[in-house]
Amino acid sequence: LTSATWGRFDVGQLSQRIDALGEIGALPTGGLFRGLYDDAWAAAVDQVEEWMRQDGLVTRRDAVGNLYGRVEGRESGPCVVSGSHIDTVRSGGKYDGALGIHAAMAAVNALVADHGKPRRTIEVLATAEEEGSRFACNFFAARAIVGQVGADEPERIADPQGVTIAQAMRQRGLDPSRISEARRDDIAAFVELHIEQGAILEAEGIPLGVVDTITGQRVWHVRLTGRQDHAGTTPMDMRADALAGAMEIAGRAREKAIAMGRPSVATVGRIAVQPHQTNVVPGVCDFTIDARHSDTVRRRELVDYIESTMKRVAAERGLGLESRVVQEHDPVPMHPLVCAAIEESIAEMGVRSLVMPSGAGHDSEIMASRFPAGMIFVPSRDGRSHSPDEFTPIEQIVPGVEALARTLFRLAY
Ligand SMILES: [Zn+2]
Repeated sequence: LTSATWGRFDVGQLSQRIDALGEIGALPTGGLFRGLYDDAWAAAVDQVEEWMRQDGLVTRRDAVGNLYGRVEGRESGPCVVSGSHIDTVRSGGKYDGALGIHAAMAAVNALVADHGKPRRTIEVLATAEEEGSRFACNFFAARAIVGQVGADEPERIADPQGVTIAQAMRQRGLDPSRISEARRDDIAAFVELHIEQGAILEAEGIPLGVVDTITGQRVWHVRLTGRQDHAGTTPMDMRADALAGAMEIAGRAREKAIAMGRPSVATVGRIAVQPHQTNVVPGVCDFTIDARHSDTVRRRELVDYIESTMKRVAAERGLGLESRVVQEHDPVPMHPLVCAAIEESIAEMGVRSLVMPSGAGHDSEIMASRFPAGMIFVPSRDGRSHSPDEFTPIEQIVPGVEALARTLFRLAY
């Protein structure tokens, strides 16, 4: 197979489609927002469906609004699926999620044009929801596909205006009692192209990333309770300052993550003190800690260190400690056969690649619970993402599409 065989997707069309989809949900203040089942979301799904039909794919939507575009294979049996999510964060960019859908459409176009019907059926997938940005229901769409949506979720989870998922589904003609019908058992492999959303590929000058693991995470909500006192009259050695305790915990968590090295990360992203006055020693401090690592044992080490540090600091400073784990999952490995197909494809192109963990969550981590899954990363300029500044130039997207096309060829032809 020569490289020339793979260059036949229309780069101009790919560019145009990226820009056109990036206009749907554009905010006057910059960036864009497509929340699950809102008007921009619906318009974006309609637009992608129209493109899929133009490309000759047979489209259908499932019970939660996931959009599939299908090329029937010569053989019956499980199919190969590629895509990503169509929803965005608030004030997000036009590459996160969307690029995986564009890349899959372009790759399938190129494959069918050059090689005709595949042996296995290939489907392009636009998942309905990944970000949790309208409803706190992250990975709703992929969880529906693997059968992991809780029965109470549609009625229980509401957006900031009080509209439940169930109500929003009905407004789009979807029946929340039929969510289980979105479940699939016939996927041979799932491949997702995504922007890196970090700056490692760019810094290393490497064009493509092959994801080996999606990072494990723990998020705590922590409350330290000390004693509210006069900031002028209370000597430093007589205080029980809740914020001072939080600062020590945050500082030590950060030092530990630095000492462990990449890809260990620990972040205090939210902090609030009471009573929040210049002349009062804080009596209460609420904060979050988000700790991640892509290795199960090392993630445990980081988490255990933070747990024991919280207890020790609270005890030493005479502070009350309440901590609650609000999110926790182990690292999710990508499937070795899919990773190998991606790596061989990139090697064949004569392009350098970096095997790397993903520090962000993706649809692939959910899909991996039931199907062999793998991911290709393209660079993000300055590592920017979840921001209107998110950008990947088309010259850096094209090799990703080619790698995806070659990977799908290996898996489906
Ligand atoms: Zn994404």
